Amino acid sequence: MSNILNLNQKQAKILKKNIKNFSLTELQIICEKLKIPKYKAKQIFSWIYKKGAKNFEQMSDIQKDIRLFFDNNFKISVFEKVESLNSDDGTIKYLFELSDKNVIETVVISSKKRKTLCISSQVGCKMACVFCASGMMKFKRNLDVAEIIEQIWYIKFIENIEIDNFVFMGIGEPFDNFDNIKNALQIMNDKNGFNIAARRITISTSGIVSGIEAIKNINLQINLAVSLHTANQAKRKSIMPIAEKYTITQLSRACKNYFEKTNRIITFEYMLLKGINDSKRDAFELANFAKDHKAKVNIISYNPAATSNKYLKVPNKVDINRFYNILVDKGVSVTVRNSKGNKIKAACGQLAGKIKI
Ligand code: SF4
Repeated sequence: MSNILNLNQKQAKILKKNIKNFSLTELQIICEKLKIPKYKAKQIFSWIYKKGAKNFEQMSDIQKDIRLFFDNNFKISVFEKVESLNSDDGTIKYLFELSDKNVIETVVISSKKRKTLCISSQVGCKMACVFCASGMMKFKRNLDVAEIIEQIWYIKFIENIEIDNFVFMGIGEPFDNFDNIKNALQIMNDKNGFNIAARRITISTSGIVSGIEAIKNINLQINLAVSLHTANQAKRKSIMPIAEKYTITQLSRACKNYFEKTNRIITFEYMLLKGINDSKRDAFELANFAKDHKAKVNIISYNPAATSNKYLKVPNKVDINRFYNILVDKGVSVTVRNSKGNKIKAACGQLAGKIKI
């Protein structure tokens, strides 16, 4: 063990790294370099992600000098400043303050059958979709792997809430932070990590074609949701600036490639905006687009947010049913999302880091 202590001294100047930024493979490489048995990395990983260890001292089956080495060189971060808001429909919104005082939101959505965790991937968002409060927040930075992972860790071990499904639909565009999302997915899916089946994880994108092309190659059977909101290029450009960069034709090709490679059915999210994308013609265009991609459609009624465009209007139930029925008649697999958390501004498109700590 003197080896470890020597290296420890040599590395004394290195700042403590956050261990939640490291995958199991990366920890194993560190162990190998330090002549620590590789399986110790697995033990450490399990302590953090299966038993919820908050410090190395708790890892009682690991030798003291190894624990000391990790304690001298790594930290295990835990969100400290947290606020939460409960809605009467069972939704809970958490506001986490990050070490640089930026804030992100994470939402637990409960239904009779399951609990879903809505995870943020960035502080703010560059995509500026007109209907979304997150898009109106100034983009500050990407979340690192630890900050993504910690949202899950906190809900599991501090709140003691067992989550069934995990969706990257919080603040930010996940594919604009691709590498950190990819590494976070590995920790989520790792048997010694959270051990979450890939099929319980959904990534939602506004249509970053490069991200869709790249995610199909990581060999994880995750679900892909695409925020489509209209199948018409000109209209899409007017409500989602990302359509300037990636046209609907490019998006279509990427979705088809994804389906061909993974055989996973894509969901097209469609936020219904009264007078903008809710006409018969919009429904026909969407039906054709969805059928062409063998995709499902999820209709979401617009959720007004304080910071979003005041000209956007909420469709009524009649509008929603009319739109839904056209899709059903055309043979599209379609659902209408029962948006939860509206009262606490935790529904789709409403997250804006708003509660003050
Ligand atoms: S809908 Fe998604 S991609 Fe668009 S602004 Fe909001 S968080 Fe960003």
